[in-house]
Amino acid sequence: MREKDIRPRELLNEYLRLSEQDATTLFADGARDVVPCVACDSGNVLPAFEKNGFGYSRCSDCGTLFQTPRPQLAVFEQFYVNSESSDFWAKTFFPQVAEARRTAVFAPRAAELAKMLKDRGFEPRTVVDVGAGHGMFLSELVGRLEGASGIAVEPSSEMIESCRKLGFEVREALAEDVKDLDGRGDLVCSLEVMEHVHNPLRFISNLAAFTAPGGWVFFTTLGADGFDITVLGEHANAVFPPHHLNFMSVEGFDILCRRAGLTDVEVLTPGKLDVDIVRNKLSELPELLDSQPFIKALLNDDTTAAAFQQFLAQNRLSSHTWVLARKPA
Ligand SMILES: [Zn+2]
Repeated sequence: MREKDIRPRELLNEYLRLSEQDATTLFADGARDVVPCVACDSGNVLPAFEKNGFGYSRCSDCGTLFQTPRPQLAVFEQFYVNSESSDFWAKTFFPQVAEARRTAVFAPRAAELAKMLKDRGFEPRTVVDVGAGHGMFLSELVGRLEGASGIAVEPSSEMIESCRKLGFEVREALAEDVKDLDGRGDLVCSLEVMEHVHNPLRFISNLAAFTAPGGWVFFTTLGADGFDITVLGEHANAVFPPHHLNFMSVEGFDILCRRAGLTDVEVLTPGKLDVDIVRNKLSELPELLDSQPFIKALLNDDTTAAAFQQFLAQNRLSSHTWVLARKPA
């Protein structure tokens, strides 16, 4: 898989441009709150950089990178319901890459997760997907689990309609507004939502609440220890306000899950794109790694670069992160 397959350059650039515009217009006014580390709650943090008027800091205790001072929740809610970049994603960007994503992202991810659960002797019967989008991942996963059914939680009315058509039970709402799913899922999933949420502890606590005792929580997101984010810093397209606010470290994911009452926390980074992402950025900013000749040489050769990507994935050094954790029985 290459970055351009799931994020074609022209669509990505337009999406980034609209997001930058939203960041400056919709978030120009209003109070911002200094927040402690979103993973471990430490106040021991240092400013890292600023992007499009949004500050990011790094926790000195657990290494998590996060956006602070943070605009208030109401502004983000307005932004997700009513902004040009969110509209562009839902109506233009996603539909054009939907089938490519099903093949390259959702189907293999569902297959791998089903295998991981089987290896742990677990056969889920009710899967809740929080931020289910069009229901693609949920349908790929449920199709691989014998006798399983799905519940989709998704605030977008357009996207929830696709979930309904797929036959899933639905809740058209944000996770924090859903009150009747406590203990319903023996597997509660959430893909690529954690990096967006205003309050990660509250979000993971909601996932834990939807989980039956002895069940599992699974989420994917972006991690601060990943190669592309570490090397590119504020130049990383993934560091993307007002959309992407939270990049936890491997340690931070563990701490956060335990704070939400989960146990048996496993953090994996099976990412495939870090090297491709850094190479693509180097074509825009060739001087970026001038002080890093070793990394430049490593990325220059296709064979070495591919082997390096595998090394990153195997050593929890890719930014694409999977977290699997258990709710105590
Ligand atoms: Zn921390």
